[in-house]
Amino acid sequence: SPRLRFAPSPTGHLHLGGLRTALFNHLLARKWKGKWLLRIEDTDRTRYTEGAVDSLRNSLEWAGLDYDEGVGVGGSHGPYTQSERLDIYHHYTKELLSRDEAYECFCSPNELEAIKASLKQQGQRHSYDGRCRHITDEEKVRKKKAGEKYVVRYKSSSQPMDIPPDVIFGENQPSAPTAGFDDFVLMKSDGWPTYHLASVVDDHLMEISHVLRGEEWLPSIPKHHSLYKAFGWTPPKFAHLPLLCNPDGTKLSKRKGDTFVEHYMNKGYEPPALINFLALMGWDYHSALSTKTTLDPHIRNDGHSLYELFTVDQLIDSFDISHIAHRKAAVNQSKLDFLNKMHLRRMAGRLGNDGVMVNAGKLSGLDEGEREGLVRRFQLGLRVEKALKGCELVEDIEFVEKVFDAELPRTTILTEMPMHSIFYFLPPTYECHESHSMLKDLKPRIYCQYVSLFADTLQQSASLSSTPLNEDLVWDVIHRLLDELNIDRKPRLLVPIRHALTERKKGPSIPELITILGLDESLSRLRRGVE
Ligand code: GLU
Repeated sequence: SPRLRFAPSPTGHLHLGGLRTALFNHLLARKWKGKWLLRIEDTDRTRYTEGAVDSLRNSLEWAGLDYDEGVGVGGSHGPYTQSERLDIYHHYTKELLSRDEAYECFCSPNELEAIKASLKQQGQRHSYDGRCRHITDEEKVRKKKAGEKYVVRYKSSSQPMDIPPDVIFGENQPSAPTAGFDDFVLMKSDGWPTYHLASVVDDHLMEISHVLRGEEWLPSIPKHHSLYKAFGWTPPKFAHLPLLCNPDGTKLSKRKGDTFVEHYMNKGYEPPALINFLALMGWDYHSALSTKTTLDPHIRNDGHSLYELFTVDQLIDSFDISHIAHRKAAVNQSKLDFLNKMHLRRMAGRLGNDGVMVNAGKLSGLDEGEREGLVRRFQLGLRVEKALKGCELVEDIEFVEKVFDAELPRTTILTEMPMHSIFYFLPPTYECHESHSMLKDLKPRIYCQYVSLFADTLQQSASLSSTPLNEDLVWDVIHRLLDELNIDRKPRLLVPIRHALTERKKGPSIPELITILGLDESLSRLRRGVE
C-alpha cells in the first residue's frame, strides 16, 4: 500500500509551503489508505537550528496532521532522523564505490574554485571536471595516509537516461540528465552525506512509493534517478508541488513573518481554515465540486465562494493528485479570512447552506464538541481582557454562549471576539452629551425622546406580557413606536436605541441584544443614556 513522507530540514519554523507539502502527503495517504511518515533531514549542519524539530512537530500537531511513522512516533523503518543514520549512508557509499559508480575526490576547496573558474571560462556548465576519477590506487593510499581530506562523488554517465514524467509537471521537467550535471558529491569530507544521497537511500529503505515535495527540488530529479539506477532500485513516483507566490506573482519570501505557520497559530486562525486554505494552493478543486450539492456555488461580492469551503474529511474524499496544477499558487490573505469566518460558523453549527448564519439547532450534524471548544476559548479570551478583570458575568457560561452566538456573524478570527464583546459585560461609559455628538444628524432632544419612550413602552409591554421577554415582543414594541411617532426610516429610531444600549453603531439586532442583556440591564442602560 502507498507510503509517503514529509522530509523537512530543521532550519527554522515551518513555512506555509512546508505545511502544504505535509498536508498533501497527509490527504493522499488517508485517501489511498496508505501511510505517511515524518523524516527529519538534518545532514546540513550549517543550517541546523536548535528547537526547530519541536517547533515543526508542534505546528503539525496544531494543524491536525498526524503522521503514522516517524520522529516522536516511531515505526518499523527508523530511525527517522538522518543524523542517526550515518552508518547506513556510509554502507551505501561503499557499495557505490565497489560498483565503480562513485569515486573518491581529494581536490581542496581552492583547487575546486580554480577548476570551476577555468571551466566557466571555457563556456562549460559543469563545475567539476572529474579529474579525480583517474587517480591510481597507490596515489589514493598515499593521500589518505598523508591525512588528505576527500569527498565521495557520483560518477555521472554520459549515457542518456529515461526519466519518467513528473506526476504534476509531466514532461515539463529537466530532461537532459546526463549533459546537465557534474559528478556531484555523495559523501562530504566530514563524514556527512549530502541531501541527494541521504534522500534517495532513505526513500528506498523506508519503502516510499510517492515523493511529494516542493517544486524547488525538481532540478534534482536527474541526480536522484541516476542514483536509483546506480543502486539498481526502483524509483518512487515523483510529484513536485508548485511554488507558493504573492498575489502579484512574486516569490513568497521566507523573511516576511507571515509566511510562517506560527504566525497564523499566534493570530488565532482555526487549523481547519488554514488547512482548507492551503489545500486550494495548487489543487484544482473545481473537479471536486460535483460532490458538493448543498452549498451555494455563487461567487459572493467579496470574490469568494462557499464551494471553496472544505472540512478535512471532505478534502480527503475529494482531493486528487491528478488535479494538482503546476502553475504557481498565490497566497491571498483575504481568502484565508473568508475561510476562517466560514469555518468558525460551521464549527459553531451556525453555517447555513448559503453561508449566512442560521439559528442554532437548525443544522443537523452539529458537532457539539467543536462548538463547546470555541465557546470555552472565547471565555478564556474574555478573562484576560483588561476591562473585564474580575467581572463575574464572564464566569456565567450560559451568558457567554449567548454573546458568542450574537457576535459570531461579525467575527473573522476568534481571538478578536472578546475585545468586540466587552460591552455585553459592562454598560457603556458615555456621558449623555457625548452620545449625542456621536449621532450627528440627531438632535439631543429627539434622541432622548425616542430612547425614553422606547424604555417606557418596553417596560410596560414586558410587564403586561404573559410570556418572558423575547425577540418578538421587542419587535412589537419597535413597530408600535415607529407607527406612533410616524417614523418612516427605521434607523431613525433604531440607531439611538442601539447607541444607548451599547454605545456602538453596529451589532446584532436590537431585539437580540435586549434578550441577551435582559430586561433590567437593558432598561438601566436606556435610562442612563438619557439622564
Ligand atoms: N529536506 C528537504 C527540505 O527541507 C526536503 C526535500 C525532499 O522532500 O526530498 O525541503
